Amino acid sequence: MKITKILEKNENGVSFEFFPPKTESSKKSLALTVKTLMKYKPLYASMTCGAGGGATRENTKIAVEMLRNEKSLLVMPHITCIDAKTEEIRELLGEYKKEGLENIMALRGDSSRESPKSDSLGACLSYARDLVRLIKDERDFCIGVAVYPEGHIETSTLEEDVQYTKEKIDAGADFAVTQMFFDNAYYYKYLDRMKKHGVEIPILPGILPLTNIDKVKELASVCRTTIPRDIEEKLISLSKRPEEMKKVGIDFTIKQCKDLMKNGFKKIHFFTLNQPETMKAILEAIS
Ligand code: FAD
Repeated sequence: MKITKILEKNENGVSFEFFPPKTESSKKSLALTVKTLMKYKPLYASMTCGAGGGATRENTKIAVEMLRNEKSLLVMPHITCIDAKTEEIRELLGEYKKEGLENIMALRGDSSRESPKSDSLGACLSYARDLVRLIKDERDFCIGVAVYPEGHIETSTLEEDVQYTKEKIDAGADFAVTQMFFDNAYYYKYLDRMKKHGVEIPILPGILPLTNIDKVKELASVCRTTIPRDIEEKLISLSKRPEEMKKVGIDFTIKQCKDLMKNGFKKIHFFTLNQPETMKAILEAIS
């Protein structure tokens, strides 16, 4: 089923993002995470994809297969285009279609090296917009894209961010998931901004549990996400007491989710980091 249909049919619910495991033990941990979280009847689950070329796309495919062992779980793979050639993406889309998948999260990704230039295998796709166009032209998938309440890190103004995001949506995106944010005001303002620009697709809030301040600070600095000063200071003060830090962080995330729900945003996407216990604590508190 297409995710847009599911979002239409459900007034509330959660969705989960996982990342592909690389080792035998992380495979077991993902399987356990999925089993644990099935109890919360996710609307769908998505599997990230690295931007490191064929091997990472293969890891995503394998992990998607793993998730599909849960028969009632709707699974959506991410595809990144920055380090891929058009023909490779076409092939992958064909494979996903053959497997009966109906949803794709279309992303540019981030390249640590120079992207390949066009060659005999076909031109490269520079932006998520180009990937969305390719998917729309080739196959009937429901397409999700990433959006940035605080503006994408490479944009110099929010207007520029809106302009390029709109291009990506107009190219055929059906729904969007936000970058993590820790201050809901950014999300509410973002929705207003997009509405003013005529964007009507669903934009799900993407929530990252704030359990480890060092890791989140590192991530936030490359994602242009603001961490409210009071919670940052509180968590840093607990650096030597990680269990306590985790508890305070989980409480913060629970409050953040409750605020979203109170304001009418009852469908929430979680970046699970494949961590069942943290997610369980949050979901128990908000269900
Ligand atoms: P784009 O929409 O292409 O935007 C990238 C930048 O280019 C932006 O600054 C944009 O403003 C600018 N831009 C767009 N169009 C133009 C244009 N025509 N001319 C000039 N500039 C333009 N990364 C992964 O590697 N794997 C994942 O699985 C993954 N999953 C994600 C899931 C979510 C929900 C989110 C929010 C992010 C995810 N990312 C993932 C991170 C994402 O790949 C990065 O944020 C990346 O830097 C941008 O990807 P994008 O698809 O938003 O790119």
